[in-house]
Amino acid sequence: MQRYRGKSVFEGIAMGKIRVYRKDETQLKPIKVQNTEGELERYFAAKRTAAQQLKQLYEKAVRQVGEAGAAVFEVHGMLLEDGEYNRSVESIIREEHVNAEYAVSMTGEKLSERFVAMEDDYIASKAADVKDISRRLVEILQRNNDVTGSLQASVAEAEKPSEPVIVVAEDLSPSETIQMNKDNVLAFVTVKGSACSHTAILAGMMGIPALVRTELSPDASMDGQQGIVDGYEGVFYVEPEAELEKQMRIRRDAELEKKKQLRELVGKRSITADGKQVMLCANIGNIGDLKAVLENDADGIGLFRSEFIYLGRNSYPTEEEQFLIYKAAAEAMNGKPIIIRTLDIGADKQCDYFHLEKEENPALGCRAIRICLKRPEIFRTQLRALFRASVYGNIAIMYPMITGVREMKRIQEIAAEVKKELRAGGIAFGEPKQGIMIETPAAVMMSDELAKEADFFSIGTNDLIQYTLAMDRQNAGLEEYCDSHYPAVLRMIEIVVKNAHKAGIPVGICGELGADREFTREFLALGVDELSVSPESILPLRKLIRQMNVEEI
Ligand code: PEP
Ligand code: MG
Repeated sequence: MQRYRGKSVFEGIAMGKIRVYRKDETQLKPIKVQNTEGELERYFAAKRTAAQQLKQLYEKAVRQVGEAGAAVFEVHGMLLEDGEYNRSVESIIREEHVNAEYAVSMTGEKLSERFVAMEDDYIASKAADVKDISRRLVEILQRNNDVTGSLQASVAEAEKPSEPVIVVAEDLSPSETIQMNKDNVLAFVTVKGSACSHTAILAGMMGIPALVRTELSPDASMDGQQGIVDGYEGVFYVEPEAELEKQMRIRRDAELEKKKQLRELVGKRSITADGKQVMLCANIGNIGDLKAVLENDADGIGLFRSEFIYLGRNSYPTEEEQFLIYKAAAEAMNGKPIIIRTLDIGADKQCDYFHLEKEENPALGCRAIRICLKRPEIFRTQLRALFRASVYGNIAIMYPMITGVREMKRIQEIAAEVKKELRAGGIAFGEPKQGIMIETPAAVMMSDELAKEADFFSIGTNDLIQYTLAMDRQNAGLEEYCDSHYPAVLRMIEIVVKNAHKAGIPVGICGELGADREFTREFLALGVDELSVSPESILPLRKLIRQMNVEEI
């Protein structure tokens, strides 16, 4: 048995088989081969397997998100048959006498670079498709080549509806995480990563145990072994002894029993013993999370991170695709409020097809509303979808990374133009409330002015902490200093609540600090109107709130 310590970012116990997830290896080394015909045969066989996989993925996606959302897999299928692509792979193998993996990878790189260089945004977006199909082919080739079968782990594996696994990786990006089928992931264990990273946040939204900064080096030998993740103690066990496994099973059963008891709170109000009521809402990343929102009886959705719709795919989601997603969410919430945050891409959330310039310091760079205001065509498409979907439920729109009134004025102009267009086209739309995320110190300082421009505020403590303390939320090495309970942040929350209430608008907290039970009483005493947390955190928080007296502080 091996035992590794890590930092727990979501509590719980997970037991099951381990899958080691490997990163894309787009740049592979050439290996000389004698039998080029044999190598070509390997390539053709990999193409057949890829075609089958894509067909299955297409059918699954049609069922889950409809034909428009599934089209990407059809495009990949067509690329597999593309003449130029195939000629390139075949000639590299024949002329350079190298392995198929290298030929595929070089072709992917070469063609995608050419697409990126083109002016046309649509053609440029195909670069990511070419890379994606090349990665799939390389994975298949590597797997077929591996006689021990030890290198089988990949996102594609985790996607398969086989047995659920504990995913172990060096690091995971948000777009890698979002592509995993959450029914098949029991837990995440990573070597890198920080508690505030979006990967950790996604684990929280999925309600599964996760460890970051785990002291291990994941290698293929772990693949397929048994593992246990103890998200309470922050320990990962590989090939656990029978006695430990027995104890863990007992603890896991007790945990399930506790969860069962919490269900008594479904349908009850989130109100303190001395009568202070608060909204307890859920944070979500896509409509797949709605089931957990409803099961955990959230009072609404306080943060729908809409950028997850853009991540893990190769082209911009269309207005229609977005409209259908927002409409489905609004309808599922059946009149309860749902705050949808506009695109917050950039920093650690990168999408190849956006072709964002590489920045020295992306957290302080062009992200979120800055991209939307620079590239209004992307913003307008999202706003059109949001305004249209608002007809079907209680949708509110929230703007991220605001620093001052000027941005809000520009947003209001764009929003007014979008509504005018919809009206002129005879397209139905609603009048959603529009709010501001307070996650920069500038927004805190301007909150009295900003309150006049918004229907509500929601405090994004994850970024507010990073920008206030000048500590990168992705930098695991700073976590010991990055004390999220730092008084400066609490003072800022106090300022924001006061300014919001002076202007007569409500204020919530949607960053991870909102779920910190050590601070619940203080937040309520300050007058915070809403806490938005991962779906699994709602009932434990409701339990605590119902036992609490706020006035005692
Ligand atoms: C935040 O910054 O607190 C927040 C909720 O947004 P995100 O974590 O997605 O940046
Ligand atoms: Mg943020």
